Amino acid sequence: MSRTLKPCPVREVCGGCQLQHLTYRKQLEFKLEKARREVGSFGSVDEIIGMDDPYFYRNKVQISFGYDYKGRVLAGNYVTSTHTIVPVKQCQLADKKANDIFNTIISLQKSFRLSVFDEHAMQGFLRHVLVRTSSDGEEVMVVIVAGSPIFPKKNGFINALLDKHPYITTIVLNVNNRRTSMILGDRSMVLYGKGYIEDELLGYTFRISPSSFYQVNHVQTEKLYRLVSEFAQLKKEDVVMDAYCGTGTIGITLADQCKEVLGVEINKEAVRDAGKNARINGISNISFYCDDAGKYMVRMALQKQKVNVVIMDPPRAGSDEKFLSSLIRLNPDRIVYVSCNPVTQKRDLKYLTARGYKVKKIKAVDMFPFTEHVECVALLKRIEQEVK
Ligand code: SAH
Repeated sequence: MSRTLKPCPVREVCGGCQLQHLTYRKQLEFKLEKARREVGSFGSVDEIIGMDDPYFYRNKVQISFGYDYKGRVLAGNYVTSTHTIVPVKQCQLADKKANDIFNTIISLQKSFRLSVFDEHAMQGFLRHVLVRTSSDGEEVMVVIVAGSPIFPKKNGFINALLDKHPYITTIVLNVNNRRTSMILGDRSMVLYGKGYIEDELLGYTFRISPSSFYQVNHVQTEKLYRLVSEFAQLKKEDVVMDAYCGTGTIGITLADQCKEVLGVEINKEAVRDAGKNARINGISNISFYCDDAGKYMVRMALQKQKVNVVIMDPPRAGSDEKFLSSLIRLNPDRIVYVSCNPVTQKRDLKYLTARGYKVKKIKAVDMFPFTEHVECVALLKRIEQEVK
């Protein structure tokens, strides 16, 4: 399918690339099989849409800092589901610029003698570094996540980083001094540039702040959103709901095909970005609400709002009963369910198909080559509608 890189030297310990031992074609077969196993009972999973070049695709990458048992500084990836750090020099999933920036920051930490955050003692400075890049490589954001807002030798450090990587367009300091497995804390300060990056997707421009959700694989996101559009079959008079909308990307790319779009999302920063994204793209028939999608749906159902199409893209845990029961009451003609976890999608499809909906099509998309994850998109239609 495409050139194969040398096996990663830390593949046995890192755990990030669970399917590294398989050729890309075999990975796709494995994922298609997985999708079929979980959701195949609702309809045939016709195909999996893969990548031509499945390497270096992640536009958002992070490394973590810590200590080994001898008290030496470590920097790299967390071993899956643990807080053990494995040093990684060249991650083959990560954007290449991000890999280079990480290596520079690892050496600057030493030369500037920056302290590293100790998760046990809950003290120290450097905790994680997050890099986000735009798909054309023009914009690069570095987020330095630290245990304290006091950045020793800040100007020298920032200048040294920019000297080495003049293409960095913004640097943000984020403070996270809580005992948590979340990477980012609540407080951010812009140290350089505008504090966010902009990326282009299907001809639209999107603004992305440090904590906003944004799909990590640009090439595959365009394919995924095209599939959503194909499944939704929007008409000019349709009112569409984009549930779990992140920075509004799906809704914005569909807005010119329908009458109105309502987006709901729980993360404040993402909703703020979504509103700005609508303006940047000159779209006026879309509104965004910051709320729990379930609660918002309950209110919509109580107000008997008319929605023709619901696009839902929940996190790995899937949707909840509140959301799904209101979805049934809202009674849209079509539901497009985008899922990054076929196990919870199966549970939710079971709920919906027991209450008047039928799965018409399912396709899988490979958003994360080399990992075991598979994205599934299902189109559901209301059954009564077919009888009419
Ligand atoms: N559709 C978007 C985002 C999908 S990721 C895209 O393609 O980019 C899932 C999103 O759901 C995240 O932005 C997350 O913040 C949001 N989310 C998680 N739980 C939620 C909830 N209970 N209600 C609303 N949004 C939620």
